[in-house]
Amino acid sequence: MPEPILNIQGLKAFYGDFQALYGVDMYIEPGEVLAIIGANGAGKTTLMRSVTGLLSNGPGQIHFQGNDISQLRADEVAMQGLAMVPEGRQLFPSLTVKENLMIGAQVGRQGPWNLDAVYRLFPILEERKDQASTSLSGGQQQMVAIGRALMANPDLIMFDEISLGLAPIVIKDIYAALPGIINGGMSAIIVEQDIAQALKVSSRVYCLQEGRVSLEGASDKVSREEISRAYFGIE
Ligand code: ATP
Repeated sequence: MPEPILNIQGLKAFYGDFQALYGVDMYIEPGEVLAIIGANGAGKTTLMRSVTGLLSNGPGQIHFQGNDISQLRADEVAMQGLAMVPEGRQLFPSLTVKENLMIGAQVGRQGPWNLDAVYRLFPILEERKDQASTSLSGGQQQMVAIGRALMANPDLIMFDEISLGLAPIVIKDIYAALPGIINGGMSAIIVEQDIAQALKVSSRVYCLQEGRVSLEGASDKVSREEISRAYFGIE
């Protein structure tokens, strides 16, 4: 097995007295697409935020490309080559599409992704580049959020619920862009509510339930029954 690009061991997370993660173990290999599924409140976003340094971590280890990143700030994690497309997109409303994309470039990493490459991936963004990001549709805003993460030229990109609130046709467009993103060897973690979609695009899947890993397996091997049990806790 190759050295994992990201290796999480025994990760715990707290909001005050409330414990949201109970010793999560998880890894992703270079070039792999990993899916994380789980019901509302299972801890998926908390896990993403812990890894990217947006939430100060409790006990546990997070190694990225061999380096311990568990105590790094979000900007330091980004510089190491890990980018997140956050749930809800979180664009800067007063900035244009192009200006939002350029935020990603501030990380200062070199690589294949620049404005031209993002515009080739999502041509509509070039047409709208000088418009306020708020004037775009939800799907187009999601494209900006993805483009902004790509502009940081990450080695691992994490998508937190990219299909949330989008129409099925738009979700299809967004997922159609995925091969163009990962073909260059980038690894990806996809957090998804849509289980079928998650299994379709990934090679391995983890299910979280109440802050614990309830299932880990190859996406084309896990059964519906295993997923139901892991997702809902139904015996
Ligand atoms: P969702 O699909 O709703 O985003 P999730 O799997 O991403 O769910 P988290 O958002 O990580 O779940 O939440 C995990 C647990 O932590 C939930 O019980 C949630 O209520 C709690 N939680 C999340 N954010 C906070 C916060 N800022 N303060 C207190 N508790 C929180």
